[in-house]
Amino acid sequence: MEYNDRTAKVILDEDRYPDGANCPTRHIEYLCPCGKGKIINERVMGFGENYAWIECKKCAKKYEVVTGCGYFWELEEID
Ligand SMILES: [Zn+2]
Repeated sequence: MEYNDRTAKVILDEDRYPDGANCPTRHIEYLCPCGKGKIINERVMGFGENYAWIECKKCAKKYEVVTGCGYFWELEEID
């Protein structure tokens, strides 16, 4: 099953302004596959920067986050 920014359930979506930045960082939290943690995605608007990481000890052992073109991420199983 594909687990990415389109299929994961969004649990938080807000704009943040770290350290008084003029440009918002869109902070989105998604439910992780096991349902006990989350995947964080930060999109720095205007700069095209896209970061994603797993905040779940269980899922972090099983998956890694891959980011691609645009504001995209998906999980890949670690072999
Ligand atoms: Zn998890």
